[in-house]
Amino acid sequence: MATSLEVVPRVRLALLPTPLHEAARLRDTLGGVRRCPRILLKRDDMTDLALGGNKARKLEYLLADALAAGATTLVTTGGPQSNHARMTAAAARMAGLGAALVLTHPGPPPTGVVGNLLLDRILGAQVHLVPDVAGAESSKLAEVVAALEMRGERPYVVPLGGSNAIGALGYVEATRELVAQLDDVGARPTRLYHASGSRGTQAGLELGARLHGASWRVHGVAVSGGEEQKRERAVAIIGEAAALLGASVAVRADELLTDQAYFGAGYAIPTAGGVEAIRLLARTEGIFLDPVYTAKAMAGMIDHIRRGLVEPTETVVFLHTGGVPGLFAQADRVIELLGDQAAEAKP
Ligand SMILES: *Cc1c(COP(=O)(O)O)cnc(C)c1O
Repeated sequence: MATSLEVVPRVRLALLPTPLHEAARLRDTLGGVRRCPRILLKRDDMTDLALGGNKARKLEYLLADALAAGATTLVTTGGPQSNHARMTAAAARMAGLGAALVLTHPGPPPTGVVGNLLLDRILGAQVHLVPDVAGAESSKLAEVVAALEMRGERPYVVPLGGSNAIGALGYVEATRELVAQLDDVGARPTRLYHASGSRGTQAGLELGARLHGASWRVHGVAVSGGEEQKRERAVAIIGEAAALLGASVAVRADELLTDQAYFGAGYAIPTAGGVEAIRLLARTEGIFLDPVYTAKAMAGMIDHIRRGLVEPTETVVFLHTGGVPGLFAQADRVIELLGDQAAEAKP
């Protein structure tokens, strides 16, 4: 179905379409054709834009909106290893704008400038680290915005994770792209798995699936708690994004699938299952996952396959949403959970 998405302002930032990769060796390792469905990886870790990830597609629409508003600086929030913050800073630079990041850390401030934090610094973003206490983030954000305005700048605040209706349009468009790619190879997947955080990706995927008559159900795998609020947020984003497109699509909260079983002790804390997924994908396909998002989502998909919840006759898509710079910030924990001599081990 055609939508009015083509007329929504967009700045090209991502290298599209991203590849669709058949994970045949991963399938063999998970029991082969008699035990494991066909697995296709949608490589949104390869969008480009400062090492890639799902935020590239959202930022194409968010940056266009910022430029239309006359913005001179993009401001956003996240954790110290936020992929979204890194990519927002890069998008700002590509448009000749400034970037300011308010990064909230639970516990003590991060030691060492590694992973995404290093990239933020190289991009020349203003980085403000704040402790995760009630009100600290919003008051720092207001302070940063006010200071920019005092200097005659026009700040544009990109929401957490780029997750609003405008950002979600990136995954409506991604669905169109994916439907076309799957048609080309004659695949009709029944499920699409992905890591779900601030819900903009899931909202765009859900809306996209309905607008484009996709064959699959979207299976979000939660990377943090707070499900009820996040589910409401997803429903609101879907409604607002549909309105932007003039489409009458309504989705109820109970229609969204977001599996809560795989985030372990919490956001950004690696799990054993996630590190097993990192190991498996690296050693069968030569592809890296990140410990915060994609490893937990892949662990969920693998567990569903092992428990027989997915028929071997099915085809599934795993959307790789990026995040690999975050791997370098968790080296010690990942090595510990790998639990082997990585150089010699078999998958
Ligand atoms: C932000 C992010 C997600 C989650 O996307 P949301 O739209 O916030 O749900 C998943 N994977 C990676 C690597 C991310 O950076």
